[in-house]
Amino acid sequence: MALIVQKFGGTSVGDLDRIRNVAQRVKLEVDAGNQVAVVVSAMAGTTNQLVEWARDIGPLHDAREYDAIVATGEQVTVGLLAIALQNIGIDARSWLGWQIPVQTDDVHGAARIESIDTTVMRERLAAGQVAVVAGFQGIAPDGRIATLGRGGSDTSAVALAAALDADRCDIYTDVDGVYTTDPRIAPKATKLDQITFEEMLEMASLGAKVLQTRSVAMAMRHNVNLQVRSSFSDAPGTLVVNEDSIVEQEKISGIAYSPDEAKITIQGLPDKPGVAAEIFGDLATNHVNVDMIVQSAASEGQKADITFSLGRADLAKALEIIDGAKGSLGFDDVVAKENVTKISVVGMAMRSQPGVAKTMFQTLAERGINLEVISTSEIKISVLIASDYTELAVRSLHTAFGLDAED
Ligand code: ADP
Ligand code: ASP
Ligand code: MG
Repeated sequence: MALIVQKFGGTSVGDLDRIRNVAQRVKLEVDAGNQVAVVVSAMAGTTNQLVEWARDIGPLHDAREYDAIVATGEQVTVGLLAIALQNIGIDARSWLGWQIPVQTDDVHGAARIESIDTTVMRERLAAGQVAVVAGFQGIAPDGRIATLGRGGSDTSAVALAAALDADRCDIYTDVDGVYTTDPRIAPKATKLDQITFEEMLEMASLGAKVLQTRSVAMAMRHNVNLQVRSSFSDAPGTLVVNEDSIVEQEKISGIAYSPDEAKITIQGLPDKPGVAAEIFGDLATNHVNVDMIVQSAASEGQKADITFSLGRADLAKALEIIDGAKGSLGFDDVVAKENVTKISVVGMAMRSQPGVAKTMFQTLAERGINLEVISTSEIKISVLIASDYTELAVRSLHTAFGLDAED
């Protein structure tokens, strides 16, 4: 007998028929004699709608009230799934974050899970009851509901699997595994049988939303047996594994893209110590996350330019902050560009293969795609390009790195 955590995303619980389908998948595990905790998301589209309402009623809303609103989607689906399970003869009970409880920190809207008390849940699981758990939510130290950031149900599932010391954590979604790139924009994407935690972490943080980044980091830390698979087919999924269990590592493992980025260039900055510290210090204090940064080299006594990328949602705020610091920074001008996308090539193979950057830059150049900012790490290279070229760039790189599925 095993203890299993299953997680079903928004599309998988998108309507009542799909919820009945999920109940059948849970039943298979119960019938096999396993103890099962099921984590569910809100129905597809629901959280987007709730976020939009929160923004419309007050663009600068109180984050605690935002959480009170956006956490409701999961309250509906846990109740519905618990009833669907009871209808087919399975003992099941719904759990909201505060009822378990899932304790988080106080960062409303993007909270981190600090601990999960599984005492009562373990007793119920041992007695044969299925726990149907609301993903994406917990309770903050102020006693109020907190949400975990978009896509956070993945993290709820992994955290619960770690806390319960589960044998498996199966993430059921609307694709049948992790692909070499988003199969929705690259029809030739190939499903991976396995991917390392490190690569999955990079892919997720660079835009592959099939798993929330934090869920991968947590699974890696707690050695959770993590698998991504489809709610709609029985095809084998993708296992996320430790590096040493993958033998062949000659290829790039994937291409990720992150839309909704923006770019700011501050022109004519005095070339002296402390300038970058002041700019990025001010942005950090105001919770603006900056990603890629380049500074143009200034010749002796000349001025310098600094260019950086950030989330588009933060652009207006960042420009306001920079404008406010114009007096002390003494720059000439600031230029912003919306509609840029970050494209990244990811893979362990990069550590041992020279020439990945060359192939990437050449492929994009041949298609007339200009690179606005470049950044690298040990296992990835990212470039910022105009958003209009996103699909072309992803597909061309996919082909250039030999990742296309065979027809
Ligand atoms: P869920 O609601 O089940 O959590 P998400 O929409 O959050 O599902 O994540 C699944 C989606 O992730 C897929 O539909 C796919 O478009 C997207 N995706 C992006 N990159 C990848 C990738 N490399 N492999 C698989 N899916 C990806
Ligand atoms: N419902 C939440 C969202 O849409 C959490 C999740 O689906 O993982 O972000
Ligand atoms: Mg998701």
